[in-house]
Amino acid sequence: MSPGPKAPHRVGESNVHCILPPIMSARRSTTTPTTAQTGAKAPVKEALFSEAADHGKVRCTLCPHLCLINENDEGICKARGVRAGRLVALTYARPASIVSDEIEKKSLFHFYPGTRALSLGGHGCNVLCSGCPNWQISHASPHTETTRLPVLLPEEAVAMANKHKLAGVAFTYNEPVVWIEYVHDVAAAFKEAGLYTAIVTAAFLNEEALDYVAPVVDAFRYDLKAPENAGWARLTRVKDAEQTLGMAVRAKEVHGCHVEVASNIVPDLNDDDASLTGMARLVVDRFGPDTPWHVTRFLPEFELSYLPATPIKTLERGLELGKKAGLRFVYIGNVPGHPARDTTCPRCGRTVIRRGEPKVELFGVRQGLCAACGEDLLLVGVGE
Ligand code: SF4
Repeated sequence: MSPGPKAPHRVGESNVHCILPPIMSARRSTTTPTTAQTGAKAPVKEALFSEAADHGKVRCTLCPHLCLINENDEGICKARGVRAGRLVALTYARPASIVSDEIEKKSLFHFYPGTRALSLGGHGCNVLCSGCPNWQISHASPHTETTRLPVLLPEEAVAMANKHKLAGVAFTYNEPVVWIEYVHDVAAAFKEAGLYTAIVTAAFLNEEALDYVAPVVDAFRYDLKAPENAGWARLTRVKDAEQTLGMAVRAKEVHGCHVEVASNIVPDLNDDDASLTGMARLVVDRFGPDTPWHVTRFLPEFELSYLPATPIKTLERGLELGKKAGLRFVYIGNVPGHPARDTTCPRCGRTVIRRGEPKVELFGVRQGLCAACGEDLLLVGVGE
């Protein structure tokens, strides 16, 4: 996943990464949870998207890996395993990270700007980026870790959000696809309560699974890793870029999700002009020129710890090439204070939203339009 706030939870430690008072400054707090039930039993959740296979094995059909899983073993993502002959969602209702975040932390700038979301992350991942900033949870084993996490049922997540005056929920830090049953149930509960829902995803899932979860997802923050298969393969376990792109496009076109795209720019791996232009063109061609594109800064992590952080000038080059490709909203991410975090009106050029740390000011916006020239700024949750 693209860098978000790093989950402090480490393999071998039992604490959940949890919000809680004082909510505005608790982003990295490991305070004992007050709502999640430490030591409680999570419901054993039979997983969706499975097929019986020969010799007592079960095939998981949730994502294109199509893992063939033996009894008491897990798939590549480690979040789904076979127990007593059934595919089980091993991480259901066991979040490893429970955090209050600004929605802008998800690289969602045109969706309820200035609000905060309950951010939930769990164990496991099916994309397995070599530079994952959240490797502590994305690579955790369900055998050693997950059962020690507190339980947070969907209705408890809603109560937690209401208690802390959060505007919605975001599934983030690890790949939400791998605990899709929980994402679905929590998102449905949030929608029922009139709160928004968002996922931060590389969209590496099969169509049936997307069609199951997308109806309860308002915002879909898509991670575009590279413009072609070779780039994806350098950075992740995904070999066919179209398998993810197609699902993200379907989320927008078939399910009407609000989509923003983020590309984490990694030195030597996807930072050349051809890669930057290629990604920008994909955003224009597949999602449309009004789609916000975030070029975010890579920081050395995990298997890519030997690389330097992305130079700012490379990100600024990405910004330039994105605009040249026809994108109307291009942002630089993971660089606090950079002026390219602000929104400028694509017609008159005035700054209309200033994203300070942590305050977001919509001083040039009226009813979702540019206050100066009336241009539609394509903001969801503003002036509706
Ligand atoms: S979701 Fe996990 S278990 Fe299922 S196919 Fe993908 S990697 Fe394998």
